[in-house]
Amino acid sequence: MPKDILEERHNSISQTGAALDCDKASVAGAVSQRACVYCGARVVLNPIADAFHLVHGPIGCASYTWDIRGSLSAGSELFRQSFSTDLKERDIVFGGVDKLRAGLIEIAQIYQPPVIFVYATCVVGVIGDDVEAVAREIEKAYHLRVIVVKAPGFAGHKSQGYRLAGEALMNLLTPYKTDQKRRGLNILGDYNLAGEMWIIKNYFREIGIPVIASLTGDSGHADLIKAPTASLNVVQCAGSMTYLAKKMEEEFGIPWVKASFFGLEDTARALRETVDLLGTEAERRRCEALIERESNKVKTAISPYLPQLKGKKAAIFVGGGFKAISLIRQFKALGLTTVLVGAQTGQKEEYEVMANIASPGTVILDDANPSELETFMREKGADILVGGVKERPLAYKLGVAFCDHNHERQSPLAGFVGVENFTREINLTINSPVWSYVQAAGELA
Ligand code: SF4
Repeated sequence: MPKDILEERHNSISQTGAALDCDKASVAGAVSQRACVYCGARVVLNPIADAFHLVHGPIGCASYTWDIRGSLSAGSELFRQSFSTDLKERDIVFGGVDKLRAGLIEIAQIYQPPVIFVYATCVVGVIGDDVEAVAREIEKAYHLRVIVVKAPGFAGHKSQGYRLAGEALMNLLTPYKTDQKRRGLNILGDYNLAGEMWIIKNYFREIGIPVIASLTGDSGHADLIKAPTASLNVVQCAGSMTYLAKKMEEEFGIPWVKASFFGLEDTARALRETVDLLGTEAERRRCEALIERESNKVKTAISPYLPQLKGKKAAIFVGGGFKAISLIRQFKALGLTTVLVGAQTGQKEEYEVMANIASPGTVILDDANPSELETFMREKGADILVGGVKERPLAYKLGVAFCDHNHERQSPLAGFVGVENFTREINLTINSPVWSYVQAAGELA
């Protein structure tokens, strides 16, 4: 292990495919790339477009997550605004419930949203405001749902936030659990970044399988509450939505299946597996026709880029392990070698799959920090880093190409069209002449 890697982190990094330590609290002082509990909860719930998202805490928490996801909505745009009780020193000393109550009354009277999510962040976790009591009071007075998400950032890491978001959604959906069941699926864990939910919905529309609700990309309260009536849950982002899928199976009797829509191979597999579980013979035939038509189109579109990508080396550091697996497969199909792969919230079985499908010697890391990413990217000579907003500056400082596969992506990377966009973007950035100048400047400095 390189000498600048903290000893406490050695068991969370492997080059031999050995089992990794994962799904644990970050090592103190290691400067983890993970986000806080509140951030995990907010990124899952925020795309509910006609809900009111109120952060009960200091203003910094609200700015941290405001508009960080490029989730699109075909309906309300209320979710694109950020609201906070903006707790100050006086509120922290004397309590913030009066400010919260005043804020909720203002929201109820002016906006009348069907549901308000109140995120109680670190400071509120310390001072102990009775947020639940205020929420019940407002629900009773104004006949709307007020759901409290007690998410102090210090209480764990991003995965706990996903779980809290799942609990908040169960709270919202449970009153509708006895509604008449129907044939159709819910899509869980797609946040409609750059319109990806619309692409997936269109595939199922063409095949003939109804989509009942989307959680939570491009969703509104009226559609969300139909979710308990569906006959299958299709889980795209397993990291954020497995908890909810399990709870919906337990409470509403809805079975679930993991399905990645990233890459040709995985998109085709996701459609086939879903249709196998829910479709008729005619729908199966339409599914196969769609896969053949779209795959051929994509293969023709990406073929000019393949010679320029062959032999390049990729590093991947994303939120969930399931996406990382799809990316390894996608890079392999494009002729690149993955030399480093990791996730903020990966699970043991996901790291095992990564070790099986990646080339021997690939560095696999759970919950990495910038120093580790830099060390191994340099050691392995990575040509490109795929990650999110926190990884972008690191890649640029190292003079390495970067592809955002998270909140800030500009074009959809899911579905068949996503493969075309991803290949074009990878080719543009990896073969840009700018990197040779950045690296030369770095050597001169
Ligand atoms: S760590 Fe605490 S203070 Fe910081 S953004 Fe998260 S909830 Fe807010």
